[in-house]
Amino acid sequence: MNAIEVSGLSFGYNKKQLVLKNLEMRCEAGSINVILGLNGSGKTTLIKILAGLLKASTGEVVLNGKKLEDLSIGARSKIMSYVAQRSELIDDFTVKDYLLFGKVNHIAFYRSPREEDVKNVETYAEKFNVTRFLDKKLGELSGGERQIVSICASVIQNTEIIILDEPTSALDIKNQHSILSLLREISKHENKTILLSSHNPNHALYLDCNVFLMKDGSIIENGPAREMIAVEKLKPIYGDDVCLSSEQEYSEISFKD
Ligand code: ADP
Repeated sequence: MNAIEVSGLSFGYNKKQLVLKNLEMRCEAGSINVILGLNGSGKTTLIKILAGLLKASTGEVVLNGKKLEDLSIGARSKIMSYVAQRSELIDDFTVKDYLLFGKVNHIAFYRSPREEDVKNVETYAEKFNVTRFLDKKLGELSGGERQIVSICASVIQNTEIIILDEPTSALDIKNQHSILSLLREISKHENKTILLSSHNPNHALYLDCNVFLMKDGSIIENGPAREMIAVEKLKPIYGDDVCLSSEQEYSEISFKD
């Protein structure tokens, strides 16, 4: 079954120019998917449409078999969580309260969080290595720390689909590795469908996932990372200078799993 189905999707911020052009995309339930493309190719626009923040001009988005346009905000938040590129977090909230909000869609509005909700937040805070921030205010965190907390909150929301716009953009290489490793583990063990955009093709290789190559508002190729992350496949996106690091006189720094 496909958790995300996008067909014939077009969108323009103005009438003169389409940013997304007849875009097609299918993400299998329980899979990890990476969108790669140059700046301005339309990744964020596509993700915002999937998150229900922008409305497509034509085409259809289906999440877990349900048309996005038929889902209320509440119903959508039970199916899908979304992490923006720069999350607008409320600076005065503590990290703990913010993470507990991730549980809000499962808690009746008149009830306080239960002991088990607090435990659940603490468990994920541990996994994401943010326990030491729990009593800090969001405004006191660095950009990277805020990004990790936002990703942690999206996982706590416990939806079947998680959509992340460049989730590693503010992270150092160690934290990039930790977050990708956690996303991989969460997809595998909790059977989540994860869709993220990235500027690093090596991230797709690491995740061993499904890849969408995006150019000028369309998906031009789609397939497993081990096939897509190849010089000839990436040249149409990044240009003729793309090469493997083994062709250079140095090896790149990486992390052991
Ligand atoms: P990417 O995420 O791949 O960098 P975006 O989806 O952000 O690409 O942008 C795609 C195109 O849409 C770009 O040409 C960008 O300038 C344009 N665009 C993005 N946001 C807006 C906006 N709010 N108003 C008008 N044009 C926009």
